[in-house]
Amino acid sequence: MIIEYLRPNSLEEAVKFLQRENPITLPLGGGSVLSKYQANPIAVVDLQALGLNRIKIEKGLIEIGATATLSEMETVLKNDVITDVIRFQAGKNQRNSGTIAGLINVADGRSPLLTLLLAKDAQLTWQPGNKQISLESWLPQRRDWHDAQLITKVTLPEVMIRFDSIGRTPKDRPIVAIAAAKWPMGKLRVAIGGFGGLPILAFDGDVHEDVAKAVDEAYSSSEDQWASSAYRREAGRKLASRLVQETMDK
Ligand SMILES: Cc1cc2nc3c(=O)[nH]c(=O)nc-3n(C[C@H](O)[C@H](O)[C@H](O)COP(=O)(O)OP(=O)(O)OC[C@H]3O[C@@H](n4cnc5c(N)ncnc54)[C@H](O)[C@@H]3O)c2cc1C
Repeated sequence: MIIEYLRPNSLEEAVKFLQRENPITLPLGGGSVLSKYQANPIAVVDLQALGLNRIKIEKGLIEIGATATLSEMETVLKNDVITDVIRFQAGKNQRNSGTIAGLINVADGRSPLLTLLLAKDAQLTWQPGNKQISLESWLPQRRDWHDAQLITKVTLPEVMIRFDSIGRTPKDRPIVAIAAAKWPMGKLRVAIGGFGGLPILAFDGDVHEDVAKAVDEAYSSSEDQWASSAYRREAGRKLASRLVQETMDK
């Protein structure tokens, strides 16, 4: 239950509020998840007045302000793969309110966009202290990380990205999802999703290595109510091989 709403005008003020221990004080992005929070009493810090929604593409890097909405990302980035993944991730209303930082905090292993961000080796910048940490390092400690309080930006390299998935219906959340990011010198990262609490980085190496095998192994304990591990391993291998081939054909 939200018992206090704060709307600071500066980053310093926001961080000061977020460092309070009583009541627990959390950043409010679009509020699509936090506004429905029913457990302990919390205070929220609305980030709207901080100008953290800018998206900048410069020198091969895409910098996305923490409060940029999924819709703003769609409009500014103009990348067909990212646009398709964002549209797949959330309906129009959710895209208009949900922010990138909010998504990084709540999205699970079936999130197409979180899977894509992991493949792209997204880096997070936190305040106070301008602390940088990769999404890959931060995600496993997402619930226990208290080194800083506020994500201010998410940085991605402007590298080739491919994504494909399988679901029960085309609009359903995926049960198998593969994102492959390729750097100009042949470095390749493949993240898998479609089950569990978080997407998994299945491969980080050279594009000519056995990526399908790595994906197969990464799905080895993926059994849940939606699909067997055997199915995911088989489907994952096929999708990964196809996506990797696509990155090499370009
Ligand atoms: C009820 C509901 C459940 C959902 N569940 C899922 C799901 O399980 N998986 C999925 O992929 N998508 C889910 N979504 C989709 C959701 O719309 C997106 O994940 C969206 O981007 C959330 O962003 P937000 O800005 O609205 O988050 P908010 O509700 O504002 O915040 C969500 C969490 O992120 C934290 N946060 C926000 N901004 C920052 C910041 N700058 N720094 C640090 N922490 C911050 C908040 O404190 C809060 O803990 C759900 C949506 C709804 C409405």
